[in-house]
Amino acid sequence: METVFIGFGSNVGDRVDYCDRAVTLLSLLPHSRVTGVSLLYETEPVRDRTDPGEGWFLNGVVQIETDIKPRSLLTTLQEIERALGRDDDNRAGPRTIDLDILFYGQHVMKEPGLSIPHPRLHQRRFVLMPINELDPLWVHPTLNQSVAQLLTESQDQAQVRLLFPQPSTRYGSRPACHTPPGS
Ligand code: AMP
Repeated sequence: METVFIGFGSNVGDRVDYCDRAVTLLSLLPHSRVTGVSLLYETEPVRDRTDPGEGWFLNGVVQIETDIKPRSLLTTLQEIERALGRDDDNRAGPRTIDLDILFYGQHVMKEPGLSIPHPRLHQRRFVLMPINELDPLWVHPTLNQSVAQLLTESQDQAQVRLLFPQPSTRYGSRPACHTPPGS
């Protein structure tokens, strides 16, 4: 089993519902169990990939233990994106749901279509903040710094704030419970 951090984000429609459904689908992955779900964060869109005026993202991170290999996991995440209405023809546009493999254990991979750790994660506070909540001492395998250190040193100027109030979910009322029952 490997510890894997999966980032999720939505900036269109009922964002809380899309995030919730993504977390639910991730909790149903075979040979896997969810060991943590972050709070939800509201994030200013990254300007280089979205038009001005597009909505803020909701972002969060799910931590799982899994036997699923990285390539299969990516395929499964893309199936979940499609199931939740992600428009493949307009990938840079508004996103019902975006799923990324952030860390896959301490593995390092650079293949066409799959880079692990996610190449931009250390530059993005909307990813670092939820991972920091789940495991601040997790070490980036190529930068050799903990997530807490990366967050402290981040130059990211984009606004990231906790969603308030946090929605209640089937995992219990955040922030009281980050770990789903039965894990
Ligand atoms: P986006 O949905 O805009 O985040 O980009 C998805 C594209 O990034 C897909 O074509 C993936 O093959 C590629 N990709 C590369 N590395 C990763 C990763 N670690 N997690 C998710 N997608 C990745």
